[in-house]
Amino acid sequence: VTQLTVLGGGQLGRMLALAAIPLGVDVTTLDPSTDATARTVSRLTVGDLGDATAARTAATGSAIVTFEWEGVPASTTRELEESGWIVRPPTTALEVSQDRITEKTTFTALDIPVALFAPVSSRAELFNAIAALGTPAILKTRRGGYDGKGQAVIETEADVDPAWDALGPAASLILEAKVAFDRELSIIAVRSVDGDVRTWPLVENQHRGGILRTTVAPAAAITTELQALADGYARALLDHFSYVGVLTIELFQVGNTLLANEMAPRVHNSGHWTIEGAATSQFENHVRAVLGWPLGSTDLTAPSVMINCIGALPAPETILAIPGAHLHRYGKTPRPGRKVGHVTVTGTEAATLAARVDQVRAVLPADIG
Ligand code: AMP
Repeated sequence: VTQLTVLGGGQLGRMLALAAIPLGVDVTTLDPSTDATARTVSRLTVGDLGDATAARTAATGSAIVTFEWEGVPASTTRELEESGWIVRPPTTALEVSQDRITEKTTFTALDIPVALFAPVSSRAELFNAIAALGTPAILKTRRGGYDGKGQAVIETEADVDPAWDALGPAASLILEAKVAFDRELSIIAVRSVDGDVRTWPLVENQHRGGILRTTVAPAAAITTELQALADGYARALLDHFSYVGVLTIELFQVGNTLLANEMAPRVHNSGHWTIEGAATSQFENHVRAVLGWPLGSTDLTAPSVMINCIGALPAPETILAIPGAHLHRYGKTPRPGRKVGHVTVTGTEAATLAARVDQVRAVLPADIG
């Protein structure tokens, strides 16, 4: 059998393993939690992701190591490489994604537009940056933020001091102009060892409280030009890193332009719909790519709407009774704000899909999606 090691054992690791199994690939995972959700579909090593010894233990028997979380310390992937493992995607892409300044600088160097931004490391710098960028603006930690954590919106001058007090003393920061976007999109792309690049159709993402709630695939009214623009940005990044595996770019659409918000060097929540809605899922293509195998078609096979279950799950019977509704439970203990599952609704006809989504929403507790 082929064995693959995934650093991280959350739901992304679990869905990677679920895609790997039919291909005869056994997955081992490394996660700090004894009840990591990937434990039921992989061989779990319990250990810190920054612990190179634990990583070597998890990777024993695998030639290739990948990761499902961009917070994996680069020191871990480097040490694995130095010990002879092949790590895909590349550590350089992982590192760039961990620092919002490096990330935006890389985008800019590749002619990928971004919001105006400035590094901030003191209260005085924050005032200067506000003077340069204007308001509204968003102050974020350079590193370690996720799901809207580590962010403060500055609408007026009065918000500057509180924003600094909330974030500044602890970390290096970035100030970004707040983009008045039409909507949020993402592009998911995959690159093989041979440099074959494929992209899934652009999707629309709806967030609430900084957390992804719903993904609509494909996004409505996407012109060929806009898709080509996003494809070009993805290809530029993938080729720049000689990347292998799945990469996601979160985008703001403003008219006919796209601004890159951030990239994730991994499979992504906005790609969960590909399990039922595309010829090949993001998870299967990531496994294929990192193992050096040919990629599958990324064509959309069924228009889909993915709804995250945040903090609570519906009773399975209520979802499974709805035609075209696909339930995914991650086996995680529900807690407020925690992603514990998702439902993907498919339907070829727009009216049918919309009716099914309404049916699903009607049985989801109000705070879930
Ligand atoms: P992030 O952690 O950068 O993905 O930000 C989480 C969410 O905050 C995004 O999905 C947007 O909804 C919003 N957001 C982040 N940065 C900006 C920005 N520069 N302008 C407008 N909205 C933003």
